[in-house]
Amino acid sequence: MRVHLCGVRGSTPAPGFEFIRYGGHTACVAIAHDGAAAPSLVLDAGIGLQQVHKLLNGSPFRGTILLSHLHWDHSTGLPFFPRGDDDTAAVHLLLPEQADGRDAVEVLSGIMRPPYFPVGPTALRGDWRFDTIAPGRHELQGFTVLALEVPHKGGRTFGYRISDGNSTVCYMPDHCPTVLGPGEDGFGEYHPAALELASGADLLLHDAQLLPDEEEMAVYGHAVADYGVGLGTRAGAATVVLFHHRSDRTDDELDELAGRFTGHAPPVLVAAEGTIFEL
Ligand SMILES: [Zn+2]
Ligand SMILES: [Zn+2]
Repeated sequence: MRVHLCGVRGSTPAPGFEFIRYGGHTACVAIAHDGAAAPSLVLDAGIGLQQVHKLLNGSPFRGTILLSHLHWDHSTGLPFFPRGDDDTAAVHLLLPEQADGRDAVEVLSGIMRPPYFPVGPTALRGDWRFDTIAPGRHELQGFTVLALEVPHKGGRTFGYRISDGNSTVCYMPDHCPTVLGPGEDGFGEYHPAALELASGADLLLHDAQLLPDEEEMAVYGHAVADYGVGLGTRAGAATVVLFHHRSDRTDDELDELAGRFTGHAPPVLVAAEGTIFEL
């Protein structure tokens, strides 16, 4: 499979010269099958969804958008995706099943309807379907997807494990493992859902919003970068990719973060927008 990082930032977009190299768009990852011209599975719809436009070579998007949760940095790209808002597009949007049983359109309408936005989700052009997804195993666009709930803050959040039968990518952009306890190294519990999602993955994309000296900010629902590295190491992931950078984390600071893990096994990369992984 081919994994395109279209947005790697958390919380808010980060425009400006200090953020050019790693990129300022919020969470979005597009996945294509080997040899396919275009991605068919998109994880999250932050403003990075606009970047998926460039991967479609002028064609409409025909595939699935899978949201980890509904926070703005994972959803506000939806109405700004021209290849999805197109008469010939065919989009199946899935979001985590809600504890109160609300359907997907009702949930999305909480952020996308007047007076917050000019139109509601069903006004998008093309053939859009909206559904919730339950924890468990699913077949989506020819990929096997395991969805498991992970602790975050303010709304049900899923981590995903996506496999094409040859390669596996694990996506856990927003994760607060400290709510389950400090764990062995103080960065949070290496709990069963996180370990199962990341087990043996070729690529583990993990929340790296915080640095160790910012741990008190975990009350906002995020992980320290070192937790993702510890999880990838314990779960036998081949490569760890630190993802969901704090919106004020500059390129120089992210270089410094990368430098801390030079020579680490497994390798640790700091997510940069525009990166393509061929797995
Ligand atoms: Zn987020
Ligand atoms: Zn979030």
